[in-house]
Amino acid sequence: MIEKEIKILWGRSGNRCAICKLELTPDGEKETLGEMAHIVARSADGPRGGSALPSNERDKYSNLILLCPTHHAEIDKNFLDWPVPNLLEIKAKHEAWVSEQLNNGNIKVATIDNAEFLKNRILAWLELSRGHVSIVLSLTPLRVSDDQIDTMGQDVQKALEEANLPGNNPIQKVNRYQTRPSEFGLLNENFPELPKRFGHSFHIFRSGHCEYFQELGHDTDRITETIRLRGDDIKGAKYVIRYTDIAKVIDSGLPWLEQLWKNVLPYEYMDFRCMILNTRDTTLFSYEVDREESVFGHPTRSESLTFKDILSKEHDTTLLSFGVLRRIANCFGLDLHSKLDSTGKYARPVSMR
Ligand SMILES: [Zn+2]
Repeated sequence: MIEKEIKILWGRSGNRCAICKLELTPDGEKETLGEMAHIVARSADGPRGGSALPSNERDKYSNLILLCPTHHAEIDKNFLDWPVPNLLEIKAKHEAWVSEQLNNGNIKVATIDNAEFLKNRILAWLELSRGHVSIVLSLTPLRVSDDQIDTMGQDVQKALEEANLPGNNPIQKVNRYQTRPSEFGLLNENFPELPKRFGHSFHIFRSGHCEYFQELGHDTDRITETIRLRGDDIKGAKYVIRYTDIAKVIDSGLPWLEQLWKNVLPYEYMDFRCMILNTRDTTLFSYEVDREESVFGHPTRSESLTFKDILSKEHDTTLLSFGVLRRIANCFGLDLHSKLDSTGKYARPVSMR
């Protein structure tokens, strides 16, 4: 689901159930949670899913209605009593009611916004990576508040220790002895070669935010040096990043975040973010085996590259990881048609020329 669509829905609904007008809160608060219900179900066999509405329209504001949990269950269980035209009419009338109440000063609407919190996190990530290329993957509740999660609970600690790390050994786990409480929650951090910018941090916040930070500085320096020695033209870029290093981090971090969310965190929706930090004047190196077929992306002029979306618990991370990788390849002027090739290895992005 897209952040913009969600903000429109919450704003126009006045944070209230379109049927009973109960005031609702987004994930991250303990009072009655609002549920963004699909008018036409996302899948064809879901409630009202037989409609001709194309699938790419189904997550949009126009097909969503904000409801309390009771009424969400009601319209999906007894879907024959709640056909599409009725729901659209209920939604339109509710929004007109909200608009009138707002104009009369009878109700006030607080926006759902975790932007301030994320802004501070981004500054912290930049500080941690100190000018080297790093990747961050994070999930944040739509509204952040203190003490949502007991980070000293066994399940949270276990989830943190079960994370996989990218690398040559596909079953490499985090070292449990590096797990410790932090002022924000629970942290597993290991930077064994700080000068070479090599290491990771997994952080679960009491606010429900969780993040995976991986340094790529070490790998970036190595591949940049190798390519310079070979005399390849890297189009004026200062640094080279290997596509597979990025892909491995995303494919290790995303399933971990998904498990953590589904097993431990109570939120139905999360703000997902993938950032590659310090990408100014870097280029992406795509093909490593046959020198004749090496492909380089164009240098980026952005400080950092970001992919973000709002996810519901039903999302499929296999598709998400492909979507993120494709977007990243695109940022460097390369095209990625599939995540894996016919041999099961990472498919390389190709030049768009
Ligand atoms: Zn209701």
